[in-house]
Amino acid sequence: MSDEKNINLDVAIIGGGVAALWTANALKNAGFGGRFGLFTNAPLGSGQSLAAQGVIHGGLKYALGGKLNESSEALASMPGRWADCLAGKGEIDLTGVQVLNDHQLLWSLPGVLSQVVSFFGSKALSGRAESVKREDFPPVFDTPEYRGKIFKIEERVLDPQSIIAELAKPVAESCFQIHWDKADFVLENGKPVGIRLESGETIFAKKFVFAAGKGNGELLAACGFERPQMQLRPLHQVVIKKAGLPDFFSVCIGNTPKPPIVSTTHADSEGCTVWYIGGDLAEADGVVRDEVDQISTAQRWFAKHMPWIDLAGAEWSTMRVDRAEPKTESGARQPGAYCEKVGENVMVAWPTKLALAPDLADGVMAGLGLEPSIEVAGEVLLPIAVIGKPVWFK
Ligand SMILES: Cc1cc2nc3c(=O)[nH]c(=O)nc-3n(C[C@H](O)[C@H](O)[C@H](O)COP(=O)(O)OP(=O)(O)OC[C@H]3O[C@@H](n4cnc5c(N)ncnc54)[C@H](O)[C@@H]3O)c2cc1C
Repeated sequence: MSDEKNINLDVAIIGGGVAALWTANALKNAGFGGRFGLFTNAPLGSGQSLAAQGVIHGGLKYALGGKLNESSEALASMPGRWADCLAGKGEIDLTGVQVLNDHQLLWSLPGVLSQVVSFFGSKALSGRAESVKREDFPPVFDTPEYRGKIFKIEERVLDPQSIIAELAKPVAESCFQIHWDKADFVLENGKPVGIRLESGETIFAKKFVFAAGKGNGELLAACGFERPQMQLRPLHQVVIKKAGLPDFFSVCIGNTPKPPIVSTTHADSEGCTVWYIGGDLAEADGVVRDEVDQISTAQRWFAKHMPWIDLAGAEWSTMRVDRAEPKTESGARQPGAYCEKVGENVMVAWPTKLALAPDLADGVMAGLGLEPSIEVAGEVLLPIAVIGKPVWFK
């Protein structure tokens, strides 16, 4: 039933981050080429994905309390799955993704309980963390002033922008920019059947995937779905720019299960080094602080715990971003990727971690339960979506 004005897709994905893009690739690989469209309201990666630190977690960050748990184990198989894609042997060719570092360091603050530190060297982790000898300490910790322990964990850190660009490549012709303020769902018997565009064109789809991060809340409401509910967990990240800073890819071990800081190292558009800082500093109290207070808190933290690093003349800024997830009773992140069928034809999806995108796409594909149809879809007359930029690219 394709005519000039109507498009008939099998699947419309709404969203433009890692969840939407990985799902688009899974659909393409399953033979849906030309039968699906991805519709984003902003450049690809805007939202959480380009704000991510790019760590392909294997879960140890969630074991800082000294024991493995559901969260740490849900992530355990993800580094291997990404590694295959990075090596060109996996489900998506990610050989073009920039690997910023091939591991993360776990480093302890002085006075951290010895049983927590010794857990990381224990057999329970079966080789997932390896103790680093003092003579092998990397430049950022190569000082007698640092007296803690360091472990190496095999968790790659990837450049989020190149992840988005490489995921977009195979599906670029199916990724469209849409303005929701000028578009609307066509609903029939309480379910979405299409998206009506300002042009008068309607994009019909048999199934919809809501993979719009924070936008999923509004999409669910627009279709009249009351469940699942969404929760937002805000972060107030710190960005430190200074030429010549050493690489600093790390998870700090303190005396609580939450790392005091998580650090990654990037480059801005002019090649200047950027330390990107998250972790406990960016959560709860950090969210309440205004930018000036957050920066001075971070400056005090570095002066106290890493006084040997010369941050004089560094440019400090902060960035606020919300993590969007399904609502949980405790308000904590649910352990694995989340996708659920809503009504007859919608899958709602939150990966909860960039690293969990492959797992999420598996769930979405299983939930869609659809074979590609042979109808002609018609041509979507919307602009092709462009790739977004990280916040430190001015
Ligand atoms: C500061 C920070 C650091 C993080 N670091 C890591 C990390 O190191 N490792 C890790 O594994 N995870 C990390 N995460 C988590 C990870 O970034 C997210 O789980 C993941 O990126 C979510 O992807 P998404 O595609 O669901 O959402 P998003 O990336 O938020 O994408 C949603 C997209 O949908 C679009 N959209 C919204 N509404 C609509 C609409 N109505 N119509 C069309 N499009 C719409 C938005 O423009 C956006 O591009 C981090 C998160 C944050 C906030």
